[in-house]
Amino acid sequence: MIHLKTPGEIDTIARAGAILAALYAELPDQLRPGRSTAELDEFAESFIRDYDGAEPAFKGLYGFPATLCISLNYEVVHGIPSPARRLAVGDIVSVDCGVKRNGFFADAAVTLPVGEIGEDVQRLLDITQRALEAGIAEARPGKRLGDIGAAIQAEAEGAGYGIVRDLVGHGIGRQPHEDPQVPNYGQRGKGELLRSGMVLAIEPMLNAGTARVRTLPDRWTVVTADRSVSAHFEHTVAITAAGPRILTQAYQGAVMTAGGVA
Ligand code: MG
Ligand code: MG
Repeated sequence: MIHLKTPGEIDTIARAGAILAALYAELPDQLRPGRSTAELDEFAESFIRDYDGAEPAFKGLYGFPATLCISLNYEVVHGIPSPARRLAVGDIVSVDCGVKRNGFFADAAVTLPVGEIGEDVQRLLDITQRALEAGIAEARPGKRLGDIGAAIQAEAEGAGYGIVRDLVGHGIGRQPHEDPQVPNYGQRGKGELLRSGMVLAIEPMLNAGTARVRTLPDRWTVVTADRSVSAHFEHTVAITAAGPRILTQAYQGAVMTAGGVA
C-alpha cells in the first residue's frame, strides 16, 4: 500500500535528508587513503547524532551492524564497515546511509573516488549520476513508475552498462522501505501512476560489466558476478504538483547549526 505524505511530512523528510546532504558534503575530505571503513562509519554516526533527535536509520535495520553501507569497487551495495578495510588511491567508494528524525526516514547514496581514478571508472560514476537525474526528472504527477525506470535504463544501456535488477528503489516515509518498488528499468507508460505526495528513494546501481550480482558469505555484501566495478547514487524525492523535489539536499531556508537543523 502506498502512503501519500502531506506537505508538512515532506518537509520533515527534507529536514532529515538535509543531514545526509551535510554528511555527504564532508565525504570528499574523509575519503583519505589509509583510512578504514570502520573509521568512516564512526565519523558518520557521530555526525548524525550531533543533530538533535537524529538517528542512523540503518544501524540495526534487519540486523545490519553499522551506520553506513560502504561498498568498494566491485562491491555493489550493503558492504559492512571494518577496521581491516582501508581505503587506497584508485578505489571508488559507495556510501549509502539513512537518517531517521521526527518519525520519518530519508535515504541517499553517493559513489566517490579516493584520489585519482581511471577515466573509464569516472565515466561509470558520471553516467550513474546522470541516470539518477534522468529518473528524478520523470517523478511528476501523471507519469508512471515505468517512466522513471525507462529513463534510467536508457542512460545506462546507452553507455553499455549493466543495470542491477535484483535490487530496486522504494517508497519511503514513516518506514525506511515502503511501497512501491522502484526498478531501475521499465517501459514508458507502464506501472503505478505517480501522484502528488508520493515519496520515492530512486537509486540506480550500474555495473561496468554484467548486470548479474551475488551476495558474499557475510550475507550482506552484494558484489558484481564478474568483479567489474559498480556505482550507486540515490536521492529521496517527493512528487509534487510543482515537480520533483529532492529531499536529500541542503534544506532551503533551514538554519544549519553545529547542533542541528533549526
Ligand atoms: Mg540507500
Ligand atoms: Mg534506498
